[in-house]
Amino acid sequence: MTKDGPTYGFDTLQIHAGARPDPATGARQTPIYQTTAYVFRDAEHAAALFNLQEVGFIYSRLTNPTVAVLQERVATLEGGVGAVCCSSGHAAQIMALFPLMQPGMNIVASTRLYGGTVTQFSQTIKRFGWSATFVDTDDLDAVKAAFDDNTRAIFCESIANPGGYITDLQAIAGIADDAGIPLVVDNTSATPYLCRPIDHGATLVVHSTTKYLTGNGTVTGGCVVDSGTFDWSASDKFPSLSQPEPAYHGLKFHETFGPLAYTFHSIAIGLRDLGMTMNPQAAHYTLMGIETLSLRMQRHVENAEKVAAWLEKDPRVDFVTYAGLPSSPYFDRIKSVCPKGAGALFTFAVKGGYDACVKLVNNLEIFSHVANLGDARSLVIHSASTTHRQLTPEQQEAAGAAPNVVRVSIGIEDADDLIEDLDRALNAAT
Ligand SMILES: *Cc1c(COP(=O)(O)O)cnc(C)c1O
Repeated sequence: MTKDGPTYGFDTLQIHAGARPDPATGARQTPIYQTTAYVFRDAEHAAALFNLQEVGFIYSRLTNPTVAVLQERVATLEGGVGAVCCSSGHAAQIMALFPLMQPGMNIVASTRLYGGTVTQFSQTIKRFGWSATFVDTDDLDAVKAAFDDNTRAIFCESIANPGGYITDLQAIAGIADDAGIPLVVDNTSATPYLCRPIDHGATLVVHSTTKYLTGNGTVTGGCVVDSGTFDWSASDKFPSLSQPEPAYHGLKFHETFGPLAYTFHSIAIGLRDLGMTMNPQAAHYTLMGIETLSLRMQRHVENAEKVAAWLEKDPRVDFVTYAGLPSSPYFDRIKSVCPKGAGALFTFAVKGGYDACVKLVNNLEIFSHVANLGDARSLVIHSASTTHRQLTPEQQEAAGAAPNVVRVSIGIEDADDLIEDLDRALNAAT
């Protein structure tokens, strides 16, 4: 399926994009190329590959044919020009920022991010000399005010964990544009089936492929997709992409590779030197998962709508945060940001607080109590007694993880069974 061919629909592309029958054997399914290295045709071929004068396979820390199919597939589904896969979602976030940042530079990040991302951005990136300023992305004036001369990216989630809040991507992209700064969107919870951030003005899209893209809780992985639309040479803010690269004889990535500059940099410098590579087995599992992405997401959304509506009416429940409910303050944003649905991730508050939540989690049978989301099976976690245990009650509240709240990731089982399971456990809990 080539870029110049006919325009296919999402369901066709999720199965075919990037894949072609194996040239050596005709194998129809993408083989797992379980190899570390690739034989050069001759010494000249090897030299051309190492000089980036010719594109090809050298060593699997950089590129691998199975991983390359996944990269092309995710890039196609997201409407980007290229992608680089990584060993996890968190690796993808570091890889996404790496070409943009230098010591002393900062990012502006949403307060409503996956808990692990808050820790990565507020603590760990300081070791690189980077920092993050956290803002409420619903407060556009605060977003504008958070930018300074050293800001090199703004980072948010399309559908934000854990409450399922929807970000006004177009508004944030407008602010980023005015500042000449790339917008990076974590699209893990939405997937390209529900939301395509690049269509709303995002420069880069990051994924934890661990979640819905793989879809069954088997392998960790991540991906960075480049829109190819950002002008890295418009200012002197992105020297890694616009200025001569000493490790490649002074090659300028933007000048040489044009819209593919970011993707080439991520492979030729990012994967080469940081080594956060996805392995071909993981790429295989994720390719399998993506073949059924649209079908699963339709059922995830359908089930989440049913379960959330049932919970909202239940007297044992104080509130439900699902943006797919007409009562949600984010309901109006669905039409523009994710018209096929608000995902399958939300929180609800149980009357009886912390103790009732712990009992609820202990009494659920179909829902698994795990620190994961985006699995075919339904998952639950009581954040206050687990992932957000170290935070003060005020911090837990701000993160959407108050002691009286549990987070669910609604799976693709029978919705009636999920409701019955919740009913039984709520009885035991309250
Ligand atoms: C899980 C997750 C991550 C981190 O991904 P890993 O694959 O666990 O490293 C980042 N962002 C979101 C929204 C996630 O759900």
